[in-house]
Amino acid sequence: MFIEPRVGNGRDAARRGWIEVVVGSMFSGKTEELIRRLNRAKIARQRVEIFKPALDTRYHELDVVSHNATSIRSTPVTFPNEILLPASSCDVVGIDEGQFFDESLVEVCNQLADHGVRVIVAGLDMDYRGKPFGPMPALMAVAEYVTKVHAVCVCCGEIATYSFRKAASAEQVLLGETDSYEARCRHCFLEGQQEKTELHAADALKH
Ligand code: ADP
Ligand code: MG
Repeated sequence: MFIEPRVGNGRDAARRGWIEVVVGSMFSGKTEELIRRLNRAKIARQRVEIFKPALDTRYHELDVVSHNATSIRSTPVTFPNEILLPASSCDVVGIDEGQFFDESLVEVCNQLADHGVRVIVAGLDMDYRGKPFGPMPALMAVAEYVTKVHAVCVCCGEIATYSFRKAASAEQVLLGETDSYEARCRHCFLEGQQEKTELHAADALKH
């Protein structure tokens, strides 16, 4: 389990910032882990703010909600630079669904950390095709701490690192839950992708 390098603002500790990244597939517990870290900071009487992309309204307009139904109040933003002002007076800033932001998220997180803020970003490292997603790879590169969490493969029970899309859409962003996605291990993900390709080819033959 991730233990904070420093939880409180010790009397003579200089205010130092850093970046933590929590990545993994869908259902791997990224939001759960983000909420856990933020709640601990709150208990340590730190000023905490949470942001999420305005487009992610799956469960709630304002709350960040995990699949096990824990939640925390957040501010929806469209562009990463909207975070700078409200975050500048915080000790800890949490950002969920980081993959939905553009590349400028990296600069915004760096700026905040440079100014003494502890920044924690949770997000998908790969999209439904298994390709690196949005600003997350670059963020992992500049972060001091990277935690990869894992789900359980719904097909075989192995450790899952892929978000397999059951629906046919080819959009990179398709908001959805268990009805559209499932956590799969490498082996079952590859099998599923192959089945989809075969179905597609059979469909094309019919038309
Ligand atoms: P994420 O933010 O990574 O999508 P959440 O933190 O919202 O994940 O949810 C994690 C919770 O999802 C787990 O504690 C568990 O209750 C539930 N869950 C549902 N499907 C799975 C799965 N295939 N593997 C692991 N956890 C799952
Ligand atoms: Mg989540």
